[in-house]
Amino acid sequence: MLIGDIDVHPLADGTFRASPEYFGDHVRAEGHEDLFGSDGFAFLPIGCFLVRTGDRTILVDCGMGPQLRDSGPRRLLIGGQLPLGLRALGVAPSDVTDVVCTHLHSDHTGWLFDRTASPTFGNATIWFGAPEWDHFVLNSDVWMFDHIRAGFRGSSRLRPISEDSTIAPGVSVTMTPGHTPGHLSVIVASGGRRAFLLGDAVICPVQLDEPTWQSIGDFDPALAARVRDRLFRELEDPSTLGAGAHFPELQFGRVLLGRTRRWFA
Ligand SMILES: [Zn+2]
Repeated sequence: MLIGDIDVHPLADGTFRASPEYFGDHVRAEGHEDLFGSDGFAFLPIGCFLVRTGDRTILVDCGMGPQLRDSGPRRLLIGGQLPLGLRALGVAPSDVTDVVCTHLHSDHTGWLFDRTASPTFGNATIWFGAPEWDHFVLNSDVWMFDHIRAGFRGSSRLRPISEDSTIAPGVSVTMTPGHTPGHLSVIVASGGRRAFLLGDAVICPVQLDEPTWQSIGDFDPALAARVRDRLFRELEDPSTLGAGAHFPELQFGRVLLGRTRRWFA
């Protein structure tokens, strides 16, 4: 997809299987058969986005890595496909100039470091929200793959971000905390158009119709809900599109205003 003259390409690293209870104990599949199949599960992607502009090749999130994480019926994550997708686009790991992590959950940082904690993208600067450092990297009580935590601790290419910032011409980040303390979203803007790469600030467009649906991963559910509402308002602008890391088919959409707001992909 082109936003002005910036190329934004969705890539899936694997599959995120979620039951209704992933979105909250009160959530049922009934009425949402488009999302939950006959077995009661939603099969969502583990998404990443490749943003190419000028001499920068920017990867927004980097999947689960060659890993499986089974948290029971609520959540199953299986990664491993990102390198194949990059290769199909003719992108070598050494071509990636920047990796922007919307947050440091395992399904967004999986390919940052290999099992020996060496960087996969050896030339890349790694950007992430500064509060993530204390929450994930320094706090051993918060779950993180050991080799990813070790990779962060040993990396000299980290760029923690504390406020809304520009990271390349036409590519900026805005702080969208709630899902995690330092969650950020990426804004690609060019030629009068904008695309929001929402990470997990919005897990699924269904949250527009169902504002009480959360993620079991939300660190601060009330703040996450306020931030989601702010982002949905941004997406009411006809020149603005958005996609999250787990949106079905990684499809971009926006909010249509009318008697009721609805999602339009
Ligand atoms: Zn995620």
